[in-house]
Amino acid sequence: IGTRPNIDLLKLAGVQCSRGVLVNEYLQTSDPHIFAIGEIAEFHEKLYGITAAAEQQADSLAKYMSGDWSSIYSGSVIMNILKFEDLDICSIGDIFVPANDVTYEEVVFTDLSLRYYKKCIVRHDRLIGAILIGDKSEFAEFRMMIEDRIELSEKRTELLRSQTGKQEVIGRLVCSCNHVGAGNLQEAINAGCADFNELCNETGAGLGCGSCKPEVMDIFKERQKKGKNATEFTTYTY
Ligand SMILES: Cc1cc2nc3c(=O)[nH]c(=O)nc-3n(C[C@H](O)[C@H](O)[C@H](O)COP(=O)(O)OP(=O)(O)OC[C@H]3O[C@@H](n4cnc5c(N)ncnc54)[C@H](O)[C@@H]3O)c2cc1C
Repeated sequence: IGTRPNIDLLKLAGVQCSRGVLVNEYLQTSDPHIFAIGEIAEFHEKLYGITAAAEQQADSLAKYMSGDWSSIYSGSVIMNILKFEDLDICSIGDIFVPANDVTYEEVVFTDLSLRYYKKCIVRHDRLIGAILIGDKSEFAEFRMMIEDRIELSEKRTELLRSQTGKQEVIGRLVCSCNHVGAGNLQEAINAGCADFNELCNETGAGLGCGSCKPEVMDIFKERQKKGKNATEFTTYTY
């Protein structure tokens, strides 16, 4: 089950492989002149198999190759979003609690009548994983909290709240992972989102599988061209 990287050529060339080609924190293989990212790269015994990890690795490696020697890849958060028309399901981060380990806590909220389920895994006052069923409107926020290892402190009580309510899709659907329409993007830009990453973080667009990012970028650029406040926009990375 799953994908199998095509590593025959690398094996023939004597580059160290396991399930994928082994890379270090610089995404460098055992041959220092060969780097690997994406589906083929195995980092700390993990093959991520998601576009978000491939993008993060590309970002890290691009910085390293352009002279930022401190650019280190430290792994990605695993995410899965199932796209059904009438059912939201996603998981982010570590969703299994090891038996007999009291440092892990599970915070679970269930509402059968609303067909809603939320499980948050907390460790050392940080959210490390979550499952959302019935409403994944918290996906972007949870992903950011997990990736940035943000301390929960008083936010912890909010984890137990019920669903936040799905955002209404305005206009053509652009991001099916997080239900973001072209109109939602335009609203966010009008409200002051001034760079591409901010637009994604604000609306949730592009934070799932990432396949809508080129379209989000087109909308963003189009707005930049047309917008009367175009000079307010800053540079962005993609
Ligand atoms: C059915 C399916 C559904 C998926 N759905 C999602 C999803 O919803 N969300 C998500 O985040 N991820 C998803 N993924 C995973 C995502 O597609 C991969 O993580 C992503 O494509 C990895 O990008 P990549 O460039 O590393 O590899 P790829 O996109 O696989 O590109 C590798 C390229 O190298 C070429 N190639 C292979 N061997 C050689 C060779 N010897 N010489 C020259 N070229 C070669 C291949 O033909 C291919 O074009 C899915 C994958 C599959 C298979």
